[in-house]
Amino acid sequence: MKVIDILDQSTRPFCSFELVPPLRGGDIRKIHAAIEPLMEFAPPFINITFHRDEEELRPRPDGSIARVVVTKRPGSVALAAAIMKRFPVEVVPHVVCGGATPHQIENTLIDLHFLDIENVMALRGDPLPGQRAFAPAEGEYRYCRELVEQIQRMNRGQYLDDSIADAVPANFCVGVAAYPEKHHEATTLDADIRHLKQKVDAGARYIVTQMFFDNNAFFRFRDACRQAGINVPIIPGLKPISTLNHLETLPRAFHINIPDKLVNRARACPDNARVRTVGIDWAVAQSAELVARGAPAVHYYTMGNSDNIRDIIRQVF
Ligand code: FAD
Repeated sequence: MKVIDILDQSTRPFCSFELVPPLRGGDIRKIHAAIEPLMEFAPPFINITFHRDEEELRPRPDGSIARVVVTKRPGSVALAAAIMKRFPVEVVPHVVCGGATPHQIENTLIDLHFLDIENVMALRGDPLPGQRAFAPAEGEYRYCRELVEQIQRMNRGQYLDDSIADAVPANFCVGVAAYPEKHHEATTLDADIRHLKQKVDAGARYIVTQMFFDNNAFFRFRDACRQAGINVPIIPGLKPISTLNHLETLPRAFHINIPDKLVNRARACPDNARVRTVGIDWAVAQSAELVARGAPAVHYYTMGNSDNIRDIIRQVF
């Protein structure tokens, strides 16, 4: 079932989750174990992130340095299919155009189509570690909008090779990302929202936001989107803090702010067990208000840890 149909047909707010594939050599059973406790909440869909290839410099035995391409978390298509087979849930694999040619993207989409996966989350991807700004390689897309356009062309039966006659149309429902506190590369929030509208006009059916810790940022963003003519569902994304480390790593990695009140509460904790409780309480309050003020669903970033998410959902849904 398509996410947009789930949103249209659901009579009350629901929760969904984002999971990260295991590191290369990791155990898929850990992913199953992370999903199992969440199934009691009957999430209609689960997102699976995608991680593009990176380059690393590694010393050779002779002392010289080799530049090596590493795929740290492979297998996101297979993982999506494995989850859908094992659990009664739709999957939303993330498709990232940064680091992939349109040809490679088309091949991935064909795999997903053959696996009966009807949902994808379209993303551009971040700059590679060490890169100051996102720079597409020759032939790659610069913006996610171009990826959404490619998926829509496939939905109309237009593949890259236009000599193919009678190609079977794909059938993807496309979600895209948005940033209540503005994407860090955008000059202003208004400009970022204009670019978001381009993704929606290109065919995105719904939006999932970056994590945020201040609901006012989300409500202001949602109002601005509606004023800009973006009328698709906007699902807020939340991540509970669970360690003191998160106070630094999350703002750095995701270009988001953590309100002083939450920082002070976490810093006053004697240990991470108490920080985890503070994070849960904060996310419960955020979730309850979001649902009360019209969010159709709340999307939780698990980052491999589903225990605290389960505690939050039990209190809200
Ligand atoms: P875009 O929509 O292309 O926007 C990127 C920037 O370009 C923005 O600043 C935008 O304002 C600007 N822009 C867009 N169009 C134009 C234009 N025409 N002219 C000028 N500027 C323009 N990353 C991964 O690698 N894997 C994942 O699985 C993943 N999942 C994510 C899930 C969610 C819900 C979110 C919020 C993010 C996720 N990311 C993931 C991170 C994402 O790839 C980065 O945030 C990336 O920097 C931007 O991706 P985007 O699709 O929003 O890009």
